[in-house]
Amino acid sequence: MAYPKVILNLDYIEANTGVIAHHCRRHAIQLVGVTKVCCGSPEVAGAMLRGGAEILADSRLDNLAKLRRAGITVPLMLLRLPMVTEAQDVVSLADISLNSEVKTLRALSTAATRLNKKHRVILMVDLGDLREGLLPSTAEKVFKKVYRLPGLEFIGLGTNFACYGGVVPTPENLNQLVTLRDKLERDFQVRLPVLSGGNSSSIPLLLSGQIPPQINQLRIGEGIILGRETIHRNPIPGTCQDTARLVAEVIEEQSKPSIPRGEVSQDAFGEHPVFIDRGERCRAILAVGRQDVTPKGLEPLTPGLEIIGASSDHLIIDVTGRHRKFPIGSTMEFVLNYAGLLGAMTSPYVEKEFLYSQNRQGTVKP
Ligand SMILES: *Cc1c(COP(=O)(O)O)cnc(C)c1O
Repeated sequence: MAYPKVILNLDYIEANTGVIAHHCRRHAIQLVGVTKVCCGSPEVAGAMLRGGAEILADSRLDNLAKLRRAGITVPLMLLRLPMVTEAQDVVSLADISLNSEVKTLRALSTAATRLNKKHRVILMVDLGDLREGLLPSTAEKVFKKVYRLPGLEFIGLGTNFACYGGVVPTPENLNQLVTLRDKLERDFQVRLPVLSGGNSSSIPLLLSGQIPPQINQLRIGEGIILGRETIHRNPIPGTCQDTARLVAEVIEEQSKPSIPRGEVSQDAFGEHPVFIDRGERCRAILAVGRQDVTPKGLEPLTPGLEIIGASSDHLIIDVTGRHRKFPIGSTMEFVLNYAGLLGAMTSPYVEKEFLYSQNRQGTVKP
């Protein structure tokens, strides 16, 4: 099996990590490299570590296990709140986890004690985005219940932005994290040295020097892998955006009318597509579909091509004017955005290829 194939350039990912690690170092921030969009790929993780990431993080235990099996020795962080039913595995696979629930923390404490381990915990605080985390008003009450649980070490506070509510990190909301940390340290006579100030949406603040100086950790995935911050999806200066491509093969190339013939009802996904009559168009069908990648995650590399439809296993491209470039058996390349890369990396039908500049090239079977 050769196609569809996702090609990741590890040198670019390493260089992107280097650019972000440089900005982090200037502000005494520890860089956590997030591998989840690449399903915990050890190849991508290696590039992040060469580029300067100090910790690796993923939202799934399976992916953390994959990283450990590959011989990676840096601390591993679980990003998604643990399921209470997987407490034992969390403690054995992750060095650090992000938490907001007393019941789960108690389970982690029991598991850690049983395994004779100290599990490090970052308590998550919701500063407005409304995904995970304690509201600042309840954090103190919850902290009181959990901070002395055996087997756990509370190392700091964390927060997340721009995931559910699309809330933008600012000096003001990040300073709430600092204030809360200072209050907990004072009231409970503890040390909470880590302030984990968000994901790639915090990169604009980092670049403009507006990130509060007490913030000393960022968890970055998209910024490293696709070279974009996630507030406006602008390129990060000095990074490369062309790190990930999808390649698919042409299986039909014919001219057809642009309006379906016959009575029109639903498409394969229960939607009612609308068609505009543009006359006869030359179209290529590619052997790739929604089982491999979301069509919205793809942008054709060749200008002038347009994705006009997708079903489970087919992608239809208007190639009018450029059809000579795409005969049967040829391939077409697409640039991937975050959603496209996530799907392509997750689909077992998509081959994964990793490029290194020194003409080393490795292909990993899915
Ligand atoms: C996914 C995730 C990140 C990384 O997000 P990016 O936008 O890819 O940088 C950081 N923290 C948490 C909790 C996450 O779930």
